[in-house]
Amino acid sequence: MSEKVNITGLTAEELKAFVGSLGEPPYRARQIIAGARGRRLGSFAAMTDLSREFRTKLIQHAVVTTLVLESRYLSSDGTRRYLFKTHDKLPVETVFIPDERRDTICFSSQSGCPLQCTFCLTAQLGLLRNLTAGEIVEQVIFALNDAYGEAVKTPRGTNLVGMGAGEPFLNFDALIKAIRIMAEPNGLHIVPNRVTISTAGVVPRIRELATIPDRPHLAVSLAAPTDELRNELMPINKKWPLKELLSACKDFEKSLKPKERFTFEYVMLAGVNDSDKQANQLARLLNSHTLRAKVNLIPHNPAEPLPYHPSSPERVETFRQILESKGILAFVRRPRGRDILAACGQLAARGTPEESRLVLISA
Ligand code: SAH
Repeated sequence: MSEKVNITGLTAEELKAFVGSLGEPPYRARQIIAGARGRRLGSFAAMTDLSREFRTKLIQHAVVTTLVLESRYLSSDGTRRYLFKTHDKLPVETVFIPDERRDTICFSSQSGCPLQCTFCLTAQLGLLRNLTAGEIVEQVIFALNDAYGEAVKTPRGTNLVGMGAGEPFLNFDALIKAIRIMAEPNGLHIVPNRVTISTAGVVPRIRELATIPDRPHLAVSLAAPTDELRNELMPINKKWPLKELLSACKDFEKSLKPKERFTFEYVMLAGVNDSDKQANQLARLLNSHTLRAKVNLIPHNPAEPLPYHPSSPERVETFRQILESKGILAFVRRPRGRDILAACGQLAARGTPEESRLVLISA
């Protein structure tokens, strides 16, 4: 890519300023949003309600997409994984998870990830770089277009989860900007109430998120009921240990709407964090803060060379029942897209067996 502006990363106000700099009136910004995000058109040429001269000007100075699809994988359960390359050739992965009532798109906030969670494959990439707001929004537009076609109205509601590669709260400004862009009523119109952001526990940003009026939902990855074990599994715990993390969650609770809860995610690693004792410890920990939260138990998604195995379904269920018996809402998350390395913690820019690959487009 040259120095052209990626308009997918511009808010409505920024777009107005940009069209102004090209000598055009502000309403042009609205037209571009309707075309590029409302109808999800991938090029200025397709925006035929704009004059030919203006389109030519736009093509000279701006782009609508920057990510290039490298591979696309289809799971036996209908989940799709996209592997893109950025203009500087870094990997970005996105997962589309269809369900009867709604679709969920899991986007990445960083290329790679700087956190060293021992159970997560993305950690092995290290941090390559933060993604821009435009690169975040592009992922969502691409997934919807792949599922339904450009300019086609989506038949179901779309939920977004910021649970792909990276730590969203270490790329906070771009993340919040992308969420604002995706909420535009004449654009994608995916409101923050449909968005959940997962953090490994960047405490100051949990507090900051609470102050944002129209904010997404929060999920916090726990993975362990004690500092000792969490230090080992999620080294970020050494910086923000459980006490500080849960105290930030307690503060965040004040920003919850009447029926809203926030979520704790707990990856279930066989023989590591899934005993009855640990279920009791977890219940005690959460109850000591009386948080309006629920716990999602995520059976570990294995991938070579991660040294873990998923807890058995019986173990997960027993763990869940112990939490429930202590008054904690707990659910078991069904893994999706494991066969194509699309499930939680499996994103590491890898290929999979040929038959699951739908297309290969060379960049
Ligand atoms: N960095 C953020 C978001 C990305 S991870 C975070 O840590 O929350 C999204 C979720 O996947 C987290 O809850 C994480 O604990 C979980 N996860 C990571 N690796 C996993 C694996 N191999 N199996 C199951 N869940 C995993």
